[in-house]
Amino acid sequence: MKETKETTRRLFIARAAVRTSAMLALPLMAQAAPAHVEESDETAAALGYRHETAKVDRQRYPNHAPTQHCANCGFFQGGAADDWGGCAMFGRKQVAAAGWCSAWVKKPGA
Ligand code: SF4
Repeated sequence: MKETKETTRRLFIARAAVRTSAMLALPLMAQAAPAHVEESDETAAALGYRHETAKVDRQRYPNHAPTQHCANCGFFQGGAADDWGGCAMFGRKQVAAAGWCSAWVKKPGA
């Protein structure tokens, strides 16, 4: 009888530990995949952000050059091989490496 109670208690503790770990991991998993900026977002629209630098409105941004894109911008926080990365202009949302906005500045050494 005592052994059964002990086993039940251990099972309860083990299951509680697994549930707690899963609950703690959920927010971390959510952080692992930040949202992408939408071109229609207020900040994106104000900065003329496009997911593809080739689609930038040349009339509105005459100083834009096709060689300028997020991956070679000083504000891009992604790695060289990343398709998306953080940007100081967009908080926790990510921008496309091939994108562009009017805040573009040449990355040092690029
Ligand atoms: Fe891309 Fe730079 Fe504009 Fe950020 S500031 S969206 S990295 S061009």
